[in-house]
Amino acid sequence: MGRWRPEEVKAVPGVADERTMSSVDPSFAAALEKRCLPGFQGVTAITADGTIAYLSPSLDGRFGVDMAGAVGRNFVEFVDLADAGQAIDSFGGVLAQPGFHPAIELRVGNHGDYVLIDAVAENRLESELGVVIMHIADVRDRSLASHLLSAQADVMRAIALGDSLATGLTAVTGFVTTALPGFGSVAYVVTEGRYVGHGDGLPTERKSRVELALVAEPRYVGAAALVDAEPKLAQAADDCEFWPIAGPVVGDGLGSIWSVPIRSDRSSPVTGCLEIYGPSAVRPRDDQWIVLQLVSRLAAIAVEHAAMQAQLEREANIDPLTAVSNRRVITAQLADALAQGRRPVVCFIDLDHLKVVNDGLGHDAGDQVIAAAAERLRRAVGVDGAVGRFGGDEFVVIADVPGATAEAVADACLAAFEEPVVVAGRQWQLSASVGVVEVDTQTTPGDVLRDADAAMYEAKRAGRGRWVRFESSTRVSVERRMRLEQQLRTAIERGQVEGWVQPIVRCSDWSLFGVEILARWRLDTGEWIPPSDFVPLAEEIGVIDELGVQMIDAALAARRLLRAQGFDRAITSVNLSPVQLQSDLLFQRLRAAHDASWDGLQLEMTEQRIVDDSAATLADLQRLLQSGVSLAIDDFGTGYSSLGALHRIPAGTLKIDRSLVARSDTDAGRAVISAVVGVASAFGMTTVAEGVEVGEQARTMRELGVDAIQGFLFARPAALDDFARRIVLGGWIWDADADELAPRVELRFSVP
Ligand code: C2E
Ligand code: CA
Ligand code: CA
Repeated sequence: MGRWRPEEVKAVPGVADERTMSSVDPSFAAALEKRCLPGFQGVTAITADGTIAYLSPSLDGRFGVDMAGAVGRNFVEFVDLADAGQAIDSFGGVLAQPGFHPAIELRVGNHGDYVLIDAVAENRLESELGVVIMHIADVRDRSLASHLLSAQADVMRAIALGDSLATGLTAVTGFVTTALPGFGSVAYVVTEGRYVGHGDGLPTERKSRVELALVAEPRYVGAAALVDAEPKLAQAADDCEFWPIAGPVVGDGLGSIWSVPIRSDRSSPVTGCLEIYGPSAVRPRDDQWIVLQLVSRLAAIAVEHAAMQAQLEREANIDPLTAVSNRRVITAQLADALAQGRRPVVCFIDLDHLKVVNDGLGHDAGDQVIAAAAERLRRAVGVDGAVGRFGGDEFVVIADVPGATAEAVADACLAAFEEPVVVAGRQWQLSASVGVVEVDTQTTPGDVLRDADAAMYEAKRAGRGRWVRFESSTRVSVERRMRLEQQLRTAIERGQVEGWVQPIVRCSDWSLFGVEILARWRLDTGEWIPPSDFVPLAEEIGVIDELGVQMIDAALAARRLLRAQGFDRAITSVNLSPVQLQSDLLFQRLRAAHDASWDGLQLEMTEQRIVDDSAATLADLQRLLQSGVSLAIDDFGTGYSSLGALHRIPAGTLKIDRSLVARSDTDAGRAVISAVVGVASAFGMTTVAEGVEVGEQARTMRELGVDAIQGFLFARPAALDDFARRIVLGGWIWDADADELAPRVELRFSVP
């Protein structure tokens, strides 16, 4: 027996020509119904030629097929074209073998509206029934549910695996095409500005037309159908949109397009739209509509998750305060460049004196300054490089373009801070210290950054606001510096940094004018670390306040000693970094440590720093001066000193830098000192010349009208008890290293 084909089968007389229900013998019907398997909704009887001889009333109308219409027609007419081949083959197998056959899944129905059934064929051709009984279960719900579940599982898996949005939405649209046989589905995602997911059978040209239309109309999301060749856009607030039943209007050979907004619930924003298109012009049934709502929700999960993922990625890569790359990303960028054999220029940038802002105006202002600095750097570097925040007020700039030189990149970084920034209603002059490395050998990002960092510290040491190129010698000093940092912390904690004193004497009679407290630190190894090294270090690691307090204590001790010796009017001078001016700790200390008044206490600050920080610093200075402390301008004659700025600073004393004193053997040098003295006295300021080492200098200072002098000529700085012993011993001050210091002037303290 050959394969069964509908056209080969002869009609069974008495059945095929009876096309009405009334023609079905009731006992035949009853016998069939009795046989219906449990869990199946009904049966159909099919003759050997494939003609439907009976259909259970329970199935009547289920598939858009009624019994009157079905009986007498070939069952294959009701099978979806896609399944027809399989149905014919299986039926052939059923005819060949009496009894039950394995279940098959078929799409059946009418007018393009197909429903999935499970069919179990029972060949009873040999019995008195003379038909094949098909037990039919409408598995539409079960299969939708299980497909929905599996689509859900696919979406969740895509999410869990960190797969792309496309994977998640392909699962969703794939489900739609399974749940709605004959339909295609595609998802449009607003943030992507394009279709994502399946979309098989949708003309590419149509897709791009819709994509273009939606990009051009960002106000609209939702239905992305082309109707009458025009894009039809549903507003976000709209619910589901259905386009139309009449095929030709939809165009592109499509019969209908349904558009379901993608959103997790009715109150959430529409993030896209799910389009379902089919060849025939139908509207979704209620049950399909419900499923589509669920599917839209599933799509929303995928879209929202992708958005969240993107946000997390941004957050993982971008420093939230400054919106430049974070440490991880900038390091990875450097690693990439090095791995590709490129030789970028790398700058390590550290803002100077951020602590002044943080302590003075609070950390919010400090944050604003950091953000402003990042923006400046980003603009300075432009497209030729990358900026990353390395932490705190540290930035890294990578210039990875041909021809980038260390000089050019570092200069650009410094130039970024030339214009003041406005933070908390004040103008702040930013400055930064920059270490720069021109990568020239095979190396690791860690090494490059460490070297750039090392060079940056050298720039700090050299006085900030400048750049230093890394040299191999820099590395040694950085290792030493790391060690020193820890040692300095411990030393300050234990009060091992001492305040030594150096006398200042009047030119008029070489009597004691006062003393300056100078910080002294000796390592356990006996090595002296100069204050020019450890004071900036103390600022850097945030222990300068504590150091300052200890120096104030030393000053108060010195003043007690001087008073005890009868030097009631001698001043005691303490050096102060501008960062300390905002230190409440220091103010408290001054207040608490001092019995009656601060009278006789003087604070020394460099003019540069006072003028730099103008508004903030001056206000703080006023606060100090009102409490009776006086102010000295230190190191006058170095760097940016300007006589013109003197009137802005409420200082009582001007300390002439030793570089000017050293030049006092020339006419020009003397002329400068003379001018300084002239202006200072016009402002009623006392002048003190520093670094007087030889008698000639002392005499010149006196001739030029300088009020007092300080220097190795009289005494090197000494520990307070040393100093005390010398005063007590015969009232003379002399230097421990006397032998090296010749000629010396012996100095008798005159008791005022
Ligand atoms: P400075 O305030 O200008 O202090 C005077 C410096 O000149 C001291 O150096 C002193 O030892 C040195 N000196 C004194 N007489 C002579 C001389 O005749 N010839 C030469 N060549 N030098 C002389 P020192 O102690 O090394 O201090 C260096 C700088 O460190 C100070 O300069 C000051 O700016 C800073 N400093 C020292 N102690 C402190 C402190 O407690 N706090 C702060 N913030 N800074 C301090
Ligand atoms: Ca000083
Ligand atoms: Ca000085």
